[in-house]
Amino acid sequence: MQIPFNKPYLTGKEITYIQEAAAIGKLSGDGVFTKRCERFFEEKYGFKKSMLTSSCTDALEMAAILINIQEGDEVIMPSFTFVSTANAFIMRGAKIVFADSSAEHPNIDATKIANLITRNTKAIVVVHYAGVACDMDNIIALANNHNLFVIEDAAQAIDAYYKGKPLGSIGHLAAFSFHETKNIIAGEGGMLVINDEKFIERAEIIREKGTNRNKFYRGEIDKYNWVDIGSSFLPSEITAAFLWAQIEAIDDIQQKRISLWNTYYEALLAYADFFQLPVIHEYASNNAHAFYLVCQQAEDRNQLIDFFRSKNILAVFHYQSLHKSPYFLDKHDGRILQEADRYSQCLLRLPLFYELSTEEITHTIIPTITTFVEQYAY
Ligand SMILES: *Cc1c(COP(=O)(O)O)cnc(C)c1O
Repeated sequence: MQIPFNKPYLTGKEITYIQEAAAIGKLSGDGVFTKRCERFFEEKYGFKKSMLTSSCTDALEMAAILINIQEGDEVIMPSFTFVSTANAFIMRGAKIVFADSSAEHPNIDATKIANLITRNTKAIVVVHYAGVACDMDNIIALANNHNLFVIEDAAQAIDAYYKGKPLGSIGHLAAFSFHETKNIIAGEGGMLVINDEKFIERAEIIREKGTNRNKFYRGEIDKYNWVDIGSSFLPSEITAAFLWAQIEAIDDIQQKRISLWNTYYEALLAYADFFQLPVIHEYASNNAHAFYLVCQQAEDRNQLIDFFRSKNILAVFHYQSLHKSPYFLDKHDGRILQEADRYSQCLLRLPLFYELSTEEITHTIIPTITTFVEQYAY
């Protein structure tokens, strides 16, 4: 029996709600289920405005348009992240200035941002890696001092907190993902969160292909027009209906994931000399998006992946530093981002999904690590 890295979990209500959406007869976006999902997030997490999108990538693209990124504007973000974090801003003409991660966590190192700020800097994009909060007080203070926007790539950070504040509620804007690899899913799906009111009206327009169609539907104008740039960022009601089933199960899903995560952590404490284990700072909560360990060398990490595979367990590495990617290499300013590179080479993610059992962790996955540690590299 293989243990996959991820297995999308269905609560059983998804098809029921999709049938309901079909029966209502409005399948395009912004219907009953879309509004129901958005209201849930606004009420539970105190977001000023939540707008479902077709992906987190879409939400990031909307964020770049909303803060009016122009040719030559500089945007600071970690190099150890998904391509969409950078693409959204590159497509609007921004110059990306990649920052290093911190030594104890793949998140952006807040102490290394100040040196990167210039007259042209417009925004800091933070990525809450594995759903663990970045050092937000220091980042917000820096942004306020220099009049910068803060955008949270909260793709992995649903139901996660910084000093008790929900992630996604702290920056001017935030982007979430409901891709099948995240905690709650819609196949493909995402959400833009707006915490600064002044962006709401334009966001509605951008999401509706640059038209003021939302105002028209609300009866505020008698015909709708093309008024701005925009695209088709709105998901269909089918996606929202699926997501609603997941939302209803969010507490159960989170509880299960956190319990599995803790099982890993407690068992792996015995190997804290061999692997760097995840650090959750005092200020952060754990939404158990991912369980990872960091090997001492790339070679160890790659051997461990192979060893897992030989035991039918799929464990996977994660991002390759974006400053070294084929697309960006000749655009990078040459700074060495040592920690980002180390996480690229040495980080390994272990299977973590709702239907994984505690026994699979304790009887199969952990003993595999034990054998590896005894036999190999160390
Ligand atoms: C998953 C992810 C994305 C992209 O999400 P999509 O919904 O697939 O567009 C962006 N950033 C981070 C950090 C992610 O983990």
